[in-house]
Amino acid sequence: TGPALLARITELIRDVPDFPTPGVGFKDITPVLADAAAFSAVVAEMAARVDGPVDLVVGMEARGFMFAAPVAVALGAGFVPVRKAGKLPGPTVSREYSLEYGTATVELHPADIPAGSRVLVVDDVLATGGTAAATVELLEGCGAEVVGLTFLVDLEFLGGRARLHGRRVEALLGVS
Ligand code: AMP
Repeated sequence: TGPALLARITELIRDVPDFPTPGVGFKDITPVLADAAAFSAVVAEMAARVDGPVDLVVGMEARGFMFAAPVAVALGAGFVPVRKAGKLPGPTVSREYSLEYGTATVELHPADIPAGSRVLVVDDVLATGGTAAATVELLEGCGAEVVGLTFLVDLEFLGGRARLHGRRVEALLGVS
């Protein structure tokens, strides 16, 4: 990320303390989406940080969709949503993963992922990496090759990268 874009993203992302629950420092990325120049620069930068051809860009509900879909268009790739349980009409494959309290489930339509597809995963924030790791497992279970994972923000102190070891992980902004 060039210094100008990095400064602009840092300025636009809003820190919301204790949202949605006490103790969480929420990164509100909506001001980045609302700024035409910043949004377009972020999408271009995400699209530039991948090696080789990409067949599909996968985005996670819900803020991942907002970056993954335009990155797919920029790369000339298709877009596939990973959704929370029960939202896709199916047939679906699903993966449960653990949160600090309880579990969550992510799902996708395997019919949208031809075996051998080269897939880029895009989301707004990398936190603990649970969502991203579950998404990688789903995709590999479909026979896809995950060529990289790209995030707007990496909350480095939560160690998400460690759960994605061996993968190409890119983040436009790292927060330590
Ligand atoms: P995790 O599975 O812990 O890496 O959490 C990642 C998912 O939760 C992403 O889809 C993010 O949109 C969301 N998320 C987690 N922590 C935050 C945070 N502090 N600010 C904004 N979004 C977050």
